[in-house]
Amino acid sequence: GSKAMLAALTNLLRGKGLLERVDLGNCNVKELSSDDDFKKRMMNADVVIAHPDVFQYCPSVLFSSELSLKLLQIIYAGCNQLLKALADNNATLPYPVARMGGSFGPHMAEYVVGQVIGFERHFPKIIGKQIADRDNLWNIRDLGYRRLRDLTIGILGLGDIGREIAKYCKFLGMTVWGMTRTPVPKEKRLSCVDQYRQLGELEELLSASDYVCNVLPSTPETAGLLDKDGFKSCAEKKPVFINIGRGDIVKESTIVEAIKNKWLSGAALDVFNEEPLPLTSELWGLDNVVITPHMAALTMTDELAELVCEQIERCLSGKPLLYMIDVKRGY
Ligand code: NDP
Repeated sequence: GSKAMLAALTNLLRGKGLLERVDLGNCNVKELSSDDDFKKRMMNADVVIAHPDVFQYCPSVLFSSELSLKLLQIIYAGCNQLLKALADNNATLPYPVARMGGSFGPHMAEYVVGQVIGFERHFPKIIGKQIADRDNLWNIRDLGYRRLRDLTIGILGLGDIGREIAKYCKFLGMTVWGMTRTPVPKEKRLSCVDQYRQLGELEELLSASDYVCNVLPSTPETAGLLDKDGFKSCAEKKPVFINIGRGDIVKESTIVEAIKNKWLSGAALDVFNEEPLPLTSELWGLDNVVITPHMAALTMTDELAELVCEQIERCLSGKPLLYMIDVKRGY
């Protein structure tokens, strides 16, 4: 979509009177004639907008200390490819890198609310019956449903996205618990979050929730976080687990076991340790598991163009850039 992106960015820059100050170029890695050609383009650029897969391409050029980029703007929210490439090449980052931010919150919150309502109103089961078991469709009435205002959601990670999910869920009457890494002082607490907890209080949050939603970044601290307890603390309320953060927070086998043991009553999974989810995964065969192909939020051209325009404006005026990745912190 780079042509549409360039067109949208051109319009925005023109609207702000910045077009004549910016020389816009377009380059498809697959069309470059050589690594030297790539290096020349990188050396000539101040701002590069890239798919994160670019970090698999020619690290000797990408991590060269000769580059003087003011910004490499990734078009996705996660930075795992970047961190892996840095580690694999024993490299340090010679320029600032930003992730896509500022627009995914509402997309992700709509996904979470959609899943909560879908589970409560049994939409996946109903569609299944319509397709394969119409005679028994009316029996689903016996399952009933719960009101959203009687439900608690526990959100792991209250960043840009987690906070927006909290806002949407609170608006629908749910009780909201949120887990953060650093303590949130009273004056900074949001009215849409009823209970704040930290990493060490994870089990308490799990046991209080009817829905557990992970929207943490993948870092050495978050990888395998939910494997430790294996959802045992969920045994009483049997929540539905919604994973829209990253797959490596828990092994798929841990989710399967928790559903079989009835510690979880279901799962809506958008991210996996291996994507696409291998056809051999036991998750495919479980009732009450909804699998979506990593599309809780997609990068949209207009939103990307707006962010890039804002970043260019900041580069030109010397203001701090947005959504910077902190390699040491891991997100
Ligand atoms: P942010 O960087 O804004 O927020 C991350 C939050 O996670 C911060 O509040 C941070 O805490 C918290 N955090 C980090 N490590 C820990 C930890 N060990 N324990 C507790 N909290 C922790 O990111 P976003 O909200 O924008 O995005 C979150 C993730 O969502 C992305 O990294 C990406 O993996 C995923 N994502 C998935 C998409 C999809 O389509 N499925 C689309 C977009 C994003 P603190 O505030 O203290 O730093």
